[in-house]
Amino acid sequence: MRKILRAGFLCALLFSHNLPAASYTVQKGETLYQIAKSQSTSVEALTKANPTINPRRLHPGDVLRLPSSPTPPPNSDPTPSTPAKTSPSPIAQTQPTPPTEWVRIKKGDSLAKIARENNLTIKDLQRWNRLSGDSLRSGDLLRLRPPPSYPSKTLPTSSPSSPKPATRELIFIEPARAQIDAPKDRLRDWEYIVVHHSGTSGGNAKIFDYFHRQTRGMENGMAYHFVIGNGSDSGDGQIEVGSRWLQQKQGGHLASESLNEIAIGICLVGDFSTHRLGPRQTASLIELVQYLRKLKPDSKLKFRLHREINTKPTECPGKLFPSSAIHEILD
Ligand SMILES: [Zn+2]
Repeated sequence: MRKILRAGFLCALLFSHNLPAASYTVQKGETLYQIAKSQSTSVEALTKANPTINPRRLHPGDVLRLPSSPTPPPNSDPTPSTPAKTSPSPIAQTQPTPPTEWVRIKKGDSLAKIARENNLTIKDLQRWNRLSGDSLRSGDLLRLRPPPSYPSKTLPTSSPSSPKPATRELIFIEPARAQIDAPKDRLRDWEYIVVHHSGTSGGNAKIFDYFHRQTRGMENGMAYHFVIGNGSDSGDGQIEVGSRWLQQKQGGHLASESLNEIAIGICLVGDFSTHRLGPRQTASLIELVQYLRKLKPDSKLKFRLHREINTKPTECPGKLFPSSAIHEILD
């Protein structure tokens, strides 16, 4: 009886919100995964549609709302909850929201399988993820929605007609300046600035924060202190400031804990083992490193690529990263 009441209550709750219909009553012994599969949806979509449920504690009789349309029409706003579109506030204390528009590729996954599981076409997945073939690397993030477009007008343009070279110098710092400056008076004794690439085609601070918490179990969230976007999920060259910088916490981006204590981590979104670093990200990286050095003039922050400092072999930030050109400017 209680179960029925509860189901009824949930139903009432659901319909009072005027939701578009479809619901599913949990049967004995069913898991969210089984339900997702039988209803041609994904666990992520179900969790999103039923934010109050605990996926590990489903009760027979519980009524779940079924996601009405797993695939948004191409012209609708693809990702209403896209982090970068919300306020540029620090990702610090915000509860991580699962970016349901992404999946982490597991061993044995194929584009066809992921497309099938998410009611998508292989073509769309390829387009949204800038994939030319169908090979996937486990561990990578795959986008399940069309990428939002970030017109460059959201950032100051580097138009050559701009008459003020002094301010042009800081076009990428300026929007993030208050956050970069925030811990100015209590900076750690940083010795290095280490640059990484995300190894993914897209992403932003909030997305990395979510995955580092969820899949790597990092309680301090995103392993890097800064993220420089590539126009996929944040602006091209846009600097995002992580909570580890705001709170002056050690990084989580190097294999050695003692190096993490003294190394600021900057992540360039992109995979520079297959793509070239663009001009806006390059300019932004240079601006950021130079600005950080000015914040702490008495210390000479040394600039390193991840592969030059890590205690374990890595190719990061990718073999196409313009290593000598950047070193020439920043050493
Ligand atoms: Zn790295």
